[in-house]
Amino acid sequence: MNLKKLIFANSDCYKEGMAKKQFIKPVGIMLHSTGANNPWLKRYVGPDDGLLGKNRYGNHWNKHRTRRVCYHAFVGKLNDGSIASYQVLPWDLRGWHSGSGKNGNGNSLGYIGICICEDNLKDKAYAMAAYKEACELSAHICELYNLDPMKIIDHAEGYRLRIASNHGDVRHWLGKYGITLDRIRQDVKALMAKPEPKPTPTPKPTEEEKVKEWQKKNTLKLGSKNPVVGYLQAYLMSNGYTDDNKMVADDDFGSLTDKMLRQYQEDKKLFVDGICGPQTWRAIMK
Ligand SMILES: [Zn+2]
Repeated sequence: MNLKKLIFANSDCYKEGMAKKQFIKPVGIMLHSTGANNPWLKRYVGPDDGLLGKNRYGNHWNKHRTRRVCYHAFVGKLNDGSIASYQVLPWDLRGWHSGSGKNGNGNSLGYIGICICEDNLKDKAYAMAAYKEACELSAHICELYNLDPMKIIDHAEGYRLRIASNHGDVRHWLGKYGITLDRIRQDVKALMAKPEPKPTPTPKPTEEEKVKEWQKKNTLKLGSKNPVVGYLQAYLMSNGYTDDNKMVADDDFGSLTDKMLRQYQEDKKLFVDGICGPQTWRAIMK
């Protein structure tokens, strides 16, 4: 999502809405498309912020206009051709985008209006890129207001529900590329942050298991060379296995250590193999 913010502070929709405190409790999103061949955001969003590019005709919508139409956000092209969305009204300010039907007025009911800038309706790459941005923005808004993505509608669906005027957007355009309302809802849902999967707790090893693991890892025998050998040698020596004071703790499991260990194993009635494995370690650590 490439969401920017340029609130239409000079629009009638914003000014009137703020003056009359026409705030809504967002209940859903209504998707629109402009119905005019102009994919450039600068046509609708202004003044230029350095990204939009300059609208030579000065006919963007951030000003007094005769037509009382205003969305909460536009999706279209920046001056460099990349896709962006612009929030132009506070999300909770009543928009002017739905019109109404016998079941009510989508604006007052709390629908946030997102409008995608149409092109000549023949460029699939643009349509899909703008659609993707609109989905990401919709997911963002759904998360913001805890809205159910399954309740996203387009203007045409609003008409079918009799809460909007008789328009065919966005399905008249995106429908050509297989984008149905159901697909929109599924795509937005998939984009919404999933709850963090609970990590499967790895059972903490017990003291006993830790000791066993250590003993297994530190099986010593003729040829072993490491500080644990020194520990074993020191243990044997301090218990009288010195072979007439010839033993030294030099971390090197040589034949002398082998001899002393076998003697120790014999005295302790262990299996005599000269290998200091779990069984012998158990005796040592007793
Ligand atoms: Zn519409």
